[in-house]
Amino acid sequence: MLNIIKNKFDQYFLKDKNLAKKIVKNLSFQNYDTIVEIGPGLGILTKYLLNNYNNNVFLIEIDKKLISFLRKNFSISKNRIIHKDFLKWNPEEIQLHNFAIIGNFPYNISSKILFHILKYNQYIQECIGMFQKEVVKRIISDKGNKNYGILSVLIQTFYDVKYLFTVNKKVFSPMPNVKSAVFSLKKKKDILYCNKNLLFQCVKIAFNQRRKKLKNSLQLFHHLPNFYKIPFLNKRAEELSVKEFLQLTKEIEIRK
Ligand code: SAH
Repeated sequence: MLNIIKNKFDQYFLKDKNLAKKIVKNLSFQNYDTIVEIGPGLGILTKYLLNNYNNNVFLIEIDKKLISFLRKNFSISKNRIIHKDFLKWNPEEIQLHNFAIIGNFPYNISSKILFHILKYNQYIQECIGMFQKEVVKRIISDKGNKNYGILSVLIQTFYDVKYLFTVNKKVFSPMPNVKSAVFSLKKKKDILYCNKNLLFQCVKIAFNQRRKKLKNSLQLFHHLPNFYKIPFLNKRAEELSVKEFLQLTKEIEIRK
């Protein structure tokens, strides 16, 4: 219990400077010039970001104590060190319309962070991040894989995903219980257009009953004209590729 209270912001600080450098080096700087770091903590990644891209870095940190530490120890203008819960942050607040995200993220809110990235995907060109290895596996999985699910489909709709490398527990203080992994998301050039809200709805409904055939799990849409002519209805969510999910959504969209 004590541990939970002590670590309410899920703080596992990276100790290995070379690893921090290696993570930052993965930023491509293609199509954006601003970087937002989520959960900078004591600033091990921040240091390398500022060395190279000082004028274009924003930090978002939830812990007040760390905010004071960062303001004291890093030469970056005060209004670029933002004391905020990332999940409540809207990039429009600071007129950011084109940027990349980097972070050794708090793992306890991994899915929420990914959904928040998806919410503002039109502005986010790239993301280099670290999560618990299991979560990274979910993001990069393809159809047929047991880790393939809602997040795989939604993230891969908008981003090309890559597993970069695995990170040992020992490079953190305190040491977490799980292995970590670094991944990258790069905005796709051609996204098959379909209604975003409807896509989210279809994917969530389909995977909530992942073993059922789509014609059964998508009951909500049975009343639509020619529903049974929609392709893929005899498949299960876990058998449908990302592209097929987009096609499915379009088929539902045109019938609405
Ligand atoms: N990047 C640092 C710290 C990683 S630990 C390093 O690599 O050492 C995760 C960090 O995320 C902590 O600093 C924690 O305070 C911060 N954090 C946790 N929840 C957050 C949230 N909702 N919004 C912003 N920062 C958060």
